[in-house]
Formats: sequence, C-alpha cells, structure tokens
Amino acid sequence: MAKSAETFKSRIFHDLDFDKPGKQISYLRVPQSRDGGAWSTVEIPIAVVKGGKGPTVLFTGGVHGDEYESQIAISRLARRIDPGSVNGKIIMLPAVDLPAALAGRRMCPIDGRDFNRCMPGDARGSFCEMLAHFIESMIMPQVEVSVDVHSAGNSMEAALCSIMHWVDDPKTIKRTQTLTETFAAPYNVVFWGVDETATVAASAERHGALSISTEIGGYGRVRPDAVRIAERGLDNVLKWMGIVEGKPDTTQPDGGQTRQMMVRDQRSYLFAPSDGLFEPTFVPEQQIKAGELAGYLHFVEEWARLPQPVEFPIDGYIWMAPGSGRVKKGDVMAVIMQEFTDN
Ligand SMILES: [Zn+2]
Repeated sequence: MAKSAETFKSRIFHDLDFDKPGKQISYLRVPQSRDGGAWSTVEIPIAVVKGGKGPTVLFTGGVHGDEYESQIAISRLARRIDPGSVNGKIIMLPAVDLPAALAGRRMCPIDGRDFNRCMPGDARGSFCEMLAHFIESMIMPQVEVSVDVHSAGNSMEAALCSIMHWVDDPKTIKRTQTLTETFAAPYNVVFWGVDETATVAASAERHGALSISTEIGGYGRVRPDAVRIAERGLDNVLKWMGIVEGKPDTTQPDGGQTRQMMVRDQRSYLFAPSDGLFEPTFVPEQQIKAGELAGYLHFVEEWARLPQPVEFPIDGYIWMAPGSGRVKKGDVMAVIMQEFTDN
C-alpha cells in the first residue's frame, strides 16, 4: 500500500491494504522498545474483510481489557465471515488494548492509560496514544458505522444494553436509536452532557459515523447471554447496513423491542459519601424510587460506628451496580436509568 502522509506520521506499521478485496487477518505493530528488545513491537489483532462497493463498518472490542464478551464475539466473527458474502468493508479489532486484555485489566499495563480516554491520540505519544492516533487518523475516516463493544469491567455490572451519546441533531438521534434497536440489546441508554470526548465512540462521531457502544455484562466475567447478544447484534448491524444479506433478528424475551432509556445528568449517579464497604440492596434492571434505601456503607475497622444508610437520588431503574465491595469517597456505587424522553 502506498504510504499516505498519515501513515508516515504514525509509528505503527502493518501490511494491510484497506481497499483490497478478500479477508486479511493481520496485526497493527506498535513499536515498544524495551530492555532486551530494541525494535520490539506489540501486535494488535486486526481483520479487514472487503467485497463489493457497500459501506464500511468498524467493530472494536477489548478497549478495556477486563471486558471479555467483545473479544470473543469479534474474534469469532472475523474467523467465520466469508468475504464472498460481503458487500462492503468490515474492520474488526477484537482486542484494541491487547496488553490490558492479556492482563485482564481496565488500564493498559504499558503506559497506565485508559485507552478509551486517549482519542484522538498522538503519533509521538505513549503506547495507547500512538494506537489511538492510528485509529483516529487511518481507520475512522473510512467508517460509516462504529460499534464499540464494552461490558462494564471489573468494577460494575450493567443492565444488558447498547449506549449512545445525546447529540444536538434530532435526525442523528433517531437514526442512532434505530441502529441500537437493530443491535437489539434489551436496553439502549442515551447519555446527556457526559464528558466523553476522548472515547472511541466520540471519535467515530467526529468523523460523521453513526456511533454506538455497549455495556453488556460486567464484574470481570464472561456472561453467556452477553456473548450471544454481542454476536447477534454484530450480525444484525451487518444485515441492516446491507453488508451481508438477511433480516436482523431483533426479538426480545418479552416479545417487545429494545427499551429506550436515558441517563440525563449527575443526579443519575449515586456517589459514595465516604470510604467504606458498600452493601447494595439492588441488582441491575431493578426498579427503584427516590429516597428508597440503596444500601449501607460499613466501617469494619471501627466497632462503634454504625453502618451509614444511603438513599437513591431519583426514580428509575438500575443501569449499573457496583462490583467491587470496597468503595472510596466519590466512587460511583450505582447509575440509574429512566425511560427516554427527548424533552
Ligand atoms: Zn469498557
């Protein structure tokens, strides 16, 4: 492939041709000089499958290493997809932050960064910043739809959902919600006013792509139903875009469709009032009311100190529940979602 100015600027090298028909299974080689390996690289798995002239979709997983469903679902899709059945281009990165994925951690063990806070990156920056710069400058300009699959990580468990940012254009909101109903997780959560400009999802939006993420699962384990939702969701998106033939299967166990929810502002978050051991009263999806008991903070190091009751700030349903037991003052112990309304 001819080297564009951007390829030259990036320190990452690879043997992919993003315009070549067929299936390419390869690696992005991120330079990582170290003791014993002056020209060492970290090889980030990537697959590009192309056929015909249809649209381009990006599927990313393992942006956080302690979220596993995406790593399984996207790897499996890359192995099984037949390029002869593809009209368009599918770019797949099943383990974006591979060092974090191998360590089972949210943060990258090489530079200590959260990859999903590194976009648009820096060609001369740290490991995550170099990789973010490549995705921002080389991949995102190609992409019409981006699905970044997350599953809440070690510290939280989520109601099985897709998520999307609130953007000011009502048509984009509607079309993105249609995409979430195509992905067909049980819930979709629309975010308002969250500072997420450095995420993969925000990078896709900057490039004019339809952009969704997910939070399917959590607690640092692999949920079988979440793997199935991810696999069906990715297949559905390919069918919806016309990249593969077929009709999306969007059925839900209750016979309905994806429930449109929202997390409007900071009142949706239950912050820990002090350090302690949190005993929650709730699980994901549970309906709750403002003022109800959310749980107790226990202070096991002080016999005389009674557990501190904590109340829910607003009505709604539990979107995120805590997984860590111990919390620090200011940590999020729950996030509450409400039925979506656009006024
Ligand atoms: Zn994540």
